[in-house]
Amino acid sequence: MSDLRDLYQELILDHTKRPRNFGQLATANRKAEGFNPLCGDRVTVHLELDGDTVREIHFEGSGCAISTASASLMTEAIKGLRVEDARALFEQVHKLVTGASGPNGGGPSLGKLVVLAGVRDYPIRVKCASLPWHTLCAALSGGDETVTTE
Ligand code: ZN
Repeated sequence: MSDLRDLYQELILDHTKRPRNFGQLATANRKAEGFNPLCGDRVTVHLELDGDTVREIHFEGSGCAISTASASLMTEAIKGLRVEDARALFEQVHKLVTGASGPNGGGPSLGKLVVLAGVRDYPIRVKCASLPWHTLCAALSGGDETVTTE
């Protein structure tokens, strides 16, 4: 588990310093906003859906390191997926960060997202890590209301 912890810290730092797919998306046709009042994290997820495929995904916002890194990792993982696969990945990540599945319980498809299991050591951070994913789900559903983790 110490390897996972090192990897967690390394990846979180990397994605916090250099968030991937950060900023507006001119071609977006879906978006949703999320807010985690517990920590003050705000995130907006922009999606370009092409049929049932996520062609492009960007995020914006201001939040703590965990929410930023989780959003950044999420955009890398979701880009190019079909909508149903994106939803399935959300379910897996949600189980992972809430501890409903073991560290390897998410299956091989999670890839480096398994580092998000690191938030289990910091229960208050679980909502930070899951916020971008809940917001993604709202964007996929086409809802325009703000998602909160409460
Ligand atoms: Zn946070």
